[in-house]
Amino acid sequence: MSSTPESKSSALQSDINKTSVSTNMPEHISLDKWADTGYEWVGEVEPNSFKRLTAILTTEHEQSKMQLNANLYRRNNVLHLAFTLTGEVWLTCQRCLQPIAVELSDDYNIALLEKDSQVRLVDEEQDYLLLDEIITEQSPEHLLPFKKLVEDEILLKTPMAPKHTDCEMSVEQFGEIPEEEENENPFAALASLKGKL
Ligand SMILES: [Zn+2]
Repeated sequence: MSSTPESKSSALQSDINKTSVSTNMPEHISLDKWADTGYEWVGEVEPNSFKRLTAILTTEHEQSKMQLNANLYRRNNVLHLAFTLTGEVWLTCQRCLQPIAVELSDDYNIALLEKDSQVRLVDEEQDYLLLDEIITEQSPEHLLPFKKLVEDEILLKTPMAPKHTDCEMSVEQFGEIPEEEENENPFAALASLKGKL
């Protein structure tokens, strides 16, 4: 009984716990460092860690962590930020004022263009942003505002006036948001920065 795999794995576990503070979602990804090799970040994010999102979350229901799996990569010589989000946030129903869950799980993909002319390298259906417009911080390094971009996408997907389909049954319900609400998203302006909504 010299081998003790349990203690080994629990040691590993405590290492993970110890470093959990530093494994928070990075605010930025250095493009100087990662644009060529690619970059991946997998982890959990708290809805409340996004400032603009927090402003619209209900405080009447506990928020649970969302899973994020993000990838920065080059395809066709164009940089892409792709991520899969799994989770939901709790907002306030605009009819009965009770908490309502809004599903955010989806695959997101944005092409990051170094110059306008790269538009012809991406599909018509592909969302894109110009790096010059999103890298606004003065820094010797090119820093992609990773967290802000993810938050932008979340806000675009989040209805601003969510309503239960049936408020009487509200609390159990995991909100499917009626299509008509989509037009009420004040963050829709974010979409106009893109080639496509
Ligand atoms: Zn309701």
